[in-house]
Amino acid sequence: MVEATHPAHDTWVFPEVGEALFEALRQARPARIVLQVPAGLIRNATDLVDRIRTAVGAPVVLGARACFGACDFPSHDEAPRADVAVVLGHAPIPNVPLPRPTYFVEMRETGGDPSRLADLVVDGRLPSRLGLVASVQHLDLIPPLSAELGRRGFDVRVGRGDRRLAYAGQALGCNYTGAEAVESVVDGFLFLGTGMFHPIGLAFAVDRPVWSLDPLQGTLEAPIDRGALIRRRQLTVALARDARRWGILVSSFGGQNRSPTALALQERARARGREAEILIFDRLDPRDLEGRALDAYVNTACPRIALDDSGNYSKPVLTPPEFLMALGELPLEPYRFDTYH
Ligand code: SF4
Repeated sequence: MVEATHPAHDTWVFPEVGEALFEALRQARPARIVLQVPAGLIRNATDLVDRIRTAVGAPVVLGARACFGACDFPSHDEAPRADVAVVLGHAPIPNVPLPRPTYFVEMRETGGDPSRLADLVVDGRLPSRLGLVASVQHLDLIPPLSAELGRRGFDVRVGRGDRRLAYAGQALGCNYTGAEAVESVVDGFLFLGTGMFHPIGLAFAVDRPVWSLDPLQGTLEAPIDRGALIRRRQLTVALARDARRWGILVSSFGGQNRSPTALALQERARARGREAEILIFDRLDPRDLEGRALDAYVNTACPRIALDDSGNYSKPVLTPPEFLMALGELPLEPYRFDTYH
């Protein structure tokens, strides 16, 4: 599979590291390649560098900074002499401009028996009107599993999201607009993938129970307690309500930079008699916020920093919608997920 998903930015997509990728890279005749690998593939990173360098015949430098999504690709300053990037483990984010031609290797999984997995869903007594969402690695399972579930009487819906999502049914930790598009016609969602990162994000975004199915292990997890997740966030909002001095966090990463949002929030804070100072960073380190004369923060970078990592910070860190709740400009209910569009 070789597919130009965003010709305006010279973006190509491959399912795996293999000959199709190598051939496309050879044709590009790069002077230098920068390779970015996510945390889960770091152990193999030097082997991958060797394979690409040998197959393509060009120098390869490895981006060592931890990366979490297609939003924090290597910048021009990080790898100034690389004229091509290879990004592993992520799908492109179609509405994010890239600094150089970029080859995304999505590491698609081919495992998982659709018939057996559909039987598990039946045994788990999931609602018959069911939305399907998958991590990019397991997207290829959606069509055959939908067919198997349909044969068992399920009405399966797969939503197409906004321009931040490359594929229908795709889960991105900051954007579940595909699921939101079908929320009103389903009674629950089934997430295909591993770990709790996406089920938690999906549970914040949609007011429906979310089951998660690990296609390779063949395990079905019960829905997470959405109410508990939201109560915890509402408590954080309550703690920040009286904060006078706010820090507004802005990331310089190409796909995490919401400067216009930050400026708009600064205006809102000042209109409500609060002080608000914009702080810019690339990757946020909790130590960078220590010792500042600020009472609380609102984070415009990756929404999951506030939702998943707030325990790492000594002051409350809110998402933009939560900040508006703290200012009294939005009600606490219904809870609004900070969708990054
Ligand atoms: S902003 Fe966060 S959740 Fe969204 S793609 Fe980047 S790392 Fe993932």
